[in-house]
Amino acid sequence: MADALPKSLEHLVERLSTLPGVGRRTAERLAHHLVRAPQAEALSIADAIREAREKIRPCSVCRAPAESDPCPICADPARDPALVLVVETARDLKAVEDSGAWKGRYHVLGGRVSPIEGVGPDDLALDALVARATEGVREVVLATNPDLEGDGTALHVEKALAPTGVKVSRLARGVPAGGSLEYLSKTVLAEALDHRR
Ligand SMILES: [Zn+2]
Repeated sequence: MADALPKSLEHLVERLSTLPGVGRRTAERLAHHLVRAPQAEALSIADAIREAREKIRPCSVCRAPAESDPCPICADPARDPALVLVVETARDLKAVEDSGAWKGRYHVLGGRVSPIEGVGPDDLALDALVARATEGVREVVLATNPDLEGDGTALHVEKALAPTGVKVSRLARGVPAGGSLEYLSKTVLAEALDHRR
């Protein structure tokens, strides 16, 4: 192929295209940008990836990515350890945390049950949650996203928690169906939390 990219550039394109939401075209655009940009600028991205990979680990209690273990939230005595809010991802955790409406702790499932994507309940941090639920937890609030897969995931969590006898509630439906926790306003999120059932 006469128009093939130089080998190292092609390798960069190929690596970038493994990122979520990045197709071949975007990967090419990014790669060309990276080799044109000042070297220090481009390499600072490589350094940031390396640093984050080396420093970030899942918290052994809640599974949120953190630089310390337990994470700052799990280590905070002002956060009620008896109240655990279950979210699909760390991005959802951040959305709830930014709302300032939750004073308890969290549990990050690390995804959602999705038959299409081949993700089953065994792929989520359910065992860790069940273990926590038997250790002085008063209420588990399910804050999975209000769509088909989020609802399905919530059912799996409820089923897993049933033998522990812990109280399980869900966010109220102030959350628009099909909406993502990530994009909700603080007020809507706070209300959904207040009216959980
Ligand atoms: Zn934690």
